[in-house]
Amino acid sequence: MKAAIYPGSFDPVTFGHLDIIKRSAKIFDELTVSVLDNKAKTPLFSVEERVKILEEVTKELPNVKVESFSGLLIDYAKEKGIRVSVRGLRAVTDFEYELQIAQTNRQLSGGDLDTVFLTTSLEYAYLSSSSVKEIASFHGDISQCVPEFVARLIYEKYGFEEV
Ligand code: ADP
Repeated sequence: MKAAIYPGSFDPVTFGHLDIIKRSAKIFDELTVSVLDNKAKTPLFSVEERVKILEEVTKELPNVKVESFSGLLIDYAKEKGIRVSVRGLRAVTDFEYELQIAQTNRQLSGGDLDTVFLTTSLEYAYLSSSSVKEIASFHGDISQCVPEFVARLIYEKYGFEEV
């Protein structure tokens, strides 16, 4: 069985992430979307909230499950017996950062963890969780960036009751 992990912050999940999830779920028999519990960052949504949101947006995808992890991806992957990590690439700026992470993971895991890159669908190339948060913080329109119920939750975090 071909299994992969799609790790990330997903704070919050966007249509760009969802597109990568749907496409990966067609390539791999089982995809585990894993929320990284990064203590160094102050997220908008807690890990538990992000897991719940991801579970909701992937509920129609039977071979996708959602988890969280902390620590090194290679340790988590080893524990699960998974040898492939999926990452999305939007632009050259992503590439440099992602290349470094991929090579580090491969090196640290002794070749046990490889990274598969999916390039973004062009309509989502501009999308990032941080830009969604910035737009939402000014009560801007994020309807093209995230599912409706996620937009509502984001606005709530910024104290806007009405969408
Ligand atoms: P991280 O904080 O680990 O970079 P993110 O949640 O921002 O996590 O993103 C997780 C992965 O999804 C990364 O590989 C990132 O490049 C990819 N990604 C984010 N937004 C998009 C998008 N709009 N299209 C394709 N891939 C994306």
